[in-house]
Amino acid sequence: MLAMDGGTPVRAEPLPSPLTAAGRTIGVEEEQAVLRVLRSGMLSGVWGTEVAALTREFAELIGTAHAVACSSGTAALHLAVAAVDPAPGEEIIVPPISDMGTVFPVIAQNAVPVFADVDPATGCLDPAAVQRAITPRTRAIIAVHLFGKPAPVHELRRIADGAGVLLIEDCAQAYLAPVGDRLVGSVGHIGCFSLQQYKHITAGDGGLVTTDDPALARSMRLFADKGWPRDTGERTYLSFALNYRMTELVAAVARAQLRKLPEVVHRRREGARRLADLLTDSPGPALPTDTGDHVYWYLPLLLEGLDAAGLRRYASALTAEGVPSQAGYLARPLYAEPAVRDSAAYGGTGFPTRGVGDYSDGLCPVAEALIERRLVVIPWNENFSDADVDDIATAIGRVHQEVAP
Ligand SMILES: *Cc1c(COP(=O)(O)O)cnc(C)c1O
Repeated sequence: MLAMDGGTPVRAEPLPSPLTAAGRTIGVEEEQAVLRVLRSGMLSGVWGTEVAALTREFAELIGTAHAVACSSGTAALHLAVAAVDPAPGEEIIVPPISDMGTVFPVIAQNAVPVFADVDPATGCLDPAAVQRAITPRTRAIIAVHLFGKPAPVHELRRIADGAGVLLIEDCAQAYLAPVGDRLVGSVGHIGCFSLQQYKHITAGDGGLVTTDDPALARSMRLFADKGWPRDTGERTYLSFALNYRMTELVAAVARAQLRKLPEVVHRRREGARRLADLLTDSPGPALPTDTGDHVYWYLPLLLEGLDAAGLRRYASALTAEGVPSQAGYLARPLYAEPAVRDSAAYGGTGFPTRGVGDYSDGLCPVAEALIERRLVVIPWNENFSDADVDDIATAIGRVHQEVAP
């Protein structure tokens, strides 16, 4: 009997989660990093050494000429959109399944988010839908590497170049995911990363952008620092900008975390591979097709034949078995959120989207089906033991048999 119907759960002990030390890789290296900064007396990245070192190390890791640090993943996307420099009412193409941090920076810069539908197997932008969404007003495309699976960025880059617009990669969920012989964040014009608590590595909050273009790098550096060019010695403000600076404490922790990142990715893959092996011979949900490029931020399960209530029951049943999971990942596509649909940004004017952007139900049917009745996600973790993964497989097998036979 299922645990949600009164049976004994597959596991009583909580799985490692990003909200506890057991599900993170914070250790003596991060402790020493924080103490090093505190003892130096310099906590600001403007004059300190840690932020500068982090951006050098990160650019080298991702394989770009430049990286710029900032205060969150949302800030990173805001830096990127500000560097695109859209005129009011110009358009930026985004996917409907992501964190809202992908979309709000577009509205903050007075541009219109245009939602294009996604691939039914991955939830990442469908290049054909992106091509159809391009208009003379398009200035950029933001591709999200959802759950750790790379979006088809080489194809999207060709579309962007053909249309004369920029490609921004939102890599917050996909550190070190390979695309051909490169890593995500180095194929588009700009890559954006987050150090929020839930990501592969964390400093609580923080963000990074990558680019090969020195002009984009400079404009993003200025946007994180009030438009103040620190290299000229003059107090002047060259462009409209905010303060999105990263502190030395955050950078020092992020540097320690960065050294652990390859191992974090490796262990997440090993766990996912073990799960796939355990589930091969039984009827069950479809797991992501893994061509060695998935870095498993979340593990998405794809289901067929359920309605919305059935999908919610599936996720609740898994959670009751001791495997926390969410139906649909989001409650609704991002365009259906009140903040977007009701154009709630600028004093009731509806600017810049009311009467311009299409945010109606049915806009992206593939994304809507994924969220409403096809997708259940399990937050994946580098600290899952073999026994943990065995329990997850047992729970999925049991729930699938009862809820989605
Ligand atoms: C987490 C996340 C963001 C936002 O990052 P924050 O650091 O929380 O602001 C943006 N996009 C995606 C895909 C994310 O997962």
